[in-house]
Amino acid sequence: MQSANSPVVKDLVLVGGGHAHVAVLRRLAMRPVPGLRLTLIARDLHTPYSGMLPGYVAGHYGYDDCHIDLRPLAQFAGARLYHAEVDGLDLAGQTLRVPGRPPVTFDLLSINTGSRPCTLNVPGAAEHAIPVKPIDGFLVRWEALTRRCLASRGPFRIGVVGGGAGGVELALAVLYRLRRLLGEGGDDPGRVHLALLTQGPEILPSHSPGVRARFLRVLRERGVEVLTDHRVIEVAADALRAEGQESVPVDAVLWVTNASAPAWPGEAGLAVTDEGFVRVDDHLQSVSHPGVFAAGDLAALPDPRPKSGVFAVRQGPVLADNLRRAATGRGLRRYRPQRRFLGLISTGDRYAVASRGGWSLEGAWLWQAKDWIDRRFMRRFNDLPPMSADKAAPALAAGIADQEAIRELSTLAMRCGGCGAKVGSSVLTRVMQRLAAGTRADVLVGLDAPDDAAVLAVPPGKLLVQSVDYFRAFIDDAYVFGQIAANHALGDVFAMGAEPQSALAIATVPYGRERVVEQALYELMSGALAVLAPTGAVLAGGHTSEGAELAFGLAVNGLVDPDAVWRKGGLKPGDRLVLTKPVGTGTLFAADMRRLTKGRWIDAAIASMILSNHAAAVCLRRHGASACTDVTGFGLLGHLVEMTRASGVDAVLELEAIPLLEGAAETVAAGILSSLQPQNLRLRRAVRDLEQVARHPWFPLLFDPQTAGGLLAGVPADRADACVAELRTLGYLDAGAIGRVEATGETAEPIAIVIGTTGGPL
Ligand SMILES: Cc1cc2nc3c(=O)[nH]c(=O)nc-3n(C[C@H](O)[C@H](O)[C@H](O)COP(=O)(O)OP(=O)(O)OC[C@H]3O[C@@H](n4cnc5c(N)ncnc54)[C@H](O)[C@@H]3O)c2cc1C
Repeated sequence: MQSANSPVVKDLVLVGGGHAHVAVLRRLAMRPVPGLRLTLIARDLHTPYSGMLPGYVAGHYGYDDCHIDLRPLAQFAGARLYHAEVDGLDLAGQTLRVPGRPPVTFDLLSINTGSRPCTLNVPGAAEHAIPVKPIDGFLVRWEALTRRCLASRGPFRIGVVGGGAGGVELALAVLYRLRRLLGEGGDDPGRVHLALLTQGPEILPSHSPGVRARFLRVLRERGVEVLTDHRVIEVAADALRAEGQESVPVDAVLWVTNASAPAWPGEAGLAVTDEGFVRVDDHLQSVSHPGVFAAGDLAALPDPRPKSGVFAVRQGPVLADNLRRAATGRGLRRYRPQRRFLGLISTGDRYAVASRGGWSLEGAWLWQAKDWIDRRFMRRFNDLPPMSADKAAPALAAGIADQEAIRELSTLAMRCGGCGAKVGSSVLTRVMQRLAAGTRADVLVGLDAPDDAAVLAVPPGKLLVQSVDYFRAFIDDAYVFGQIAANHALGDVFAMGAEPQSALAIATVPYGRERVVEQALYELMSGALAVLAPTGAVLAGGHTSEGAELAFGLAVNGLVDPDAVWRKGGLKPGDRLVLTKPVGTGTLFAADMRRLTKGRWIDAAIASMILSNHAAAVCLRRHGASACTDVTGFGLLGHLVEMTRASGVDAVLELEAIPLLEGAAETVAAGILSSLQPQNLRLRRAVRDLEQVARHPWFPLLFDPQTAGGLLAGVPADRADACVAELRTLGYLDAGAIGRVEATGETAEPIAIVIGTTGGPL
């Protein structure tokens, strides 16, 4: 783990959260290398454990049983997690191309991105076949196929292309699940027909005749048509055509053929095989580039082995050790793949066949044994030791820093405060040259011609709206943090009914080597610009300094017509209260800090925070909103109370109509609340019949502080439904009408809360 006490000397970037990298993360968490910063770039935040995947398809496991959640694992390892897909590599510049974000620099690179079935050369396969990888895509399409099968009438024919262990296991799992679902629904399970096509003369070619015989028997018993010597050369919507054979009618096709490799490693100049797999030596180190390692399906070893998760898993500990050694300049360890290994292949129905060399065995108890082994494996990654206070780690691992690095780092201890804490001008200049800060006619002096301060013009007839926000990073991805911080700051401008014009940034970047500081600053500012630019705002200047931790904020300026200013005080009795985004970021990130969330909950929360309020503000105006605010630190109730006070009205909130981020109800139920919650909770005195509503499990979410939250507006009742419908089409999928405004009543408390919704539309 990168200890907070040690500066970053080297960057190790792991691409892909495959079976080997999960072990690398765990091992580096247990025995960190101070000075080595870890970054994991993963296209999927959950790694399906290959051994349990057929069991998931068959319905024996739930999603979380067989997926490794990369977010808590990365946190455990102190690794930055970038949810993104690498599509290019610059070996000379030591950067990775990652669409949608700035290039990621590395000193050491490890690639464990797996493989996917090869559909490229078969006409129609890309359109009509469902490849088993990428797995998240497969799982979505598999659920759709299930629904299609259940809704169909008469025979439903599935072709599975690929007769290796993966294809056979998947075919039997698919058949088991569909027949069971049909049976449970009172339908005829026998109307699902399955054909297994393989190009060779036999199925399971890498297994013994005994294993083949057992599976041929099982397939026959289940009525699966096994079509050997069927090299599929074309896929149509309703048929498979194999070379020299009659076409096979199908309603769906699953594609589980030989593994293929992505093009980018070879295109970058890494030594690869003819098929594109990265050639490594027996240290798992690239044969052409010693700073690059590869493992799992993507790696081509000197002594090749089948593409199997078993090997990827076994490579993990050696890879972890070698990455540690490479970072600290020590000799590498050899990886010796087993010649023979025990394979446990399931038959779909909680029954398995064991295969090792020429030996085989079958039975339900083997499935039980496999289940026990697989669950134990998963526990190592999903049941992580609880968070403990940062142990006093040595400042740097021996051997990680060369003389130049040591010289650079020795100056860190003597860094000044005040103006001396500013990021060096050369770093800043380089960062600014790489950024496109934008220009506008009313920004007279900005970053295109930098001076001591920005000079802004307020066009005639317009008013200037200003706001400022600044906070510590709560995620370790500087680019995403920059996006969220910019969105959060702009929320105030939109809530006032203004259009953004310009912004000044204030950034604190952790102390470190010059290039590390430069990269962090670049990522932060790129994130902010990615949010500012589409709103029309330009970055006109700012201030950066070094400090103990990453923090960022913006002073934002907006322009508005005098009669279009929205105030909190504009709510009118009869208005519906419309909220544009779900709530729950406070509790979710409090849980995230303790590694008590699911990665997908945090991912959805980040997506919500990155969603700009710009289009929502325009939509609210179009539907006649009379008052607006952005929901941030004081929580939904705190901001609503501000509005009712300023407007001299009361409000009724429909508790169960309030949209919640996925997982927020669970983390609140677990008692995990933001540290700001107790202060926000003081406003509960504004709620009528408190005793009654405070018992509701969602009640604490009314006080949950939001980062980059949505807009809360009063919209005329007859426009509210149309407004919510339009917000949803604009991408605010959880937008909803959550209550109404009433004239001030007899009671002192302005807010009434009803449990459940009023049952009206939307
Ligand atoms: C149906 C089926 C059943 C199988 N059953 C078994 C079995 O029982 N036992 C067994 O040992 N093997 C099994 N296999 C084989 C096994 O799935 C693979 O060998 C194994 O998953 C390879 O592991 P890996 O670590 O190389 O990559 P993966 O486990 O595939 O992980 C790679 C990860 O990298 C990420 N990624 C990919 N590209 C990028 C990118 N460009 N940028 C960032 N991230 C990226 C993906 O999100 C992916 O999660 C089965 C295969 C199939 C199809």
